[in-house]
Amino acid sequence: MPASRRVFLMSAAAIGQAALLERGHAAAPVVDPSDPQANALGYTPDASMLPGPFAPRHADGAHCGNCALFQGKSAEGPGPCPLFGGKTVQGKGWCSSWVAKE
Ligand code: SF4
Repeated sequence: MPASRRVFLMSAAAIGQAALLERGHAAAPVVDPSDPQANALGYTPDASMLPGPFAPRHADGAHCGNCALFQGKSAEGPGPCPLFGGKTVQGKGWCSSWVAKE
């Protein structure tokens, strides 16, 4: 699947989840870096402390706050990420699915 289509689909899912949150549903839980999805994607809440095997894939300056999938209102986050079912990630976090915000 082309990256632009993947970003569109994930963004649409996240917008729906964000709308639910804004309508008064419980605040989204924060992603636990030790959960299986986070481990598989190399998610870290602080991009300056990357898991070793994923460090070579990290582009300088890349973090959740400047990722196309990040749905937070502020780049500093936290904000929802569709890869984690709407759970929130830290703005200074990172995972191996990072895509530059256009
Ligand atoms: Fe989500 Fe992007 Fe952060 Fe990965 S880098 S956790 S895809 S916001």
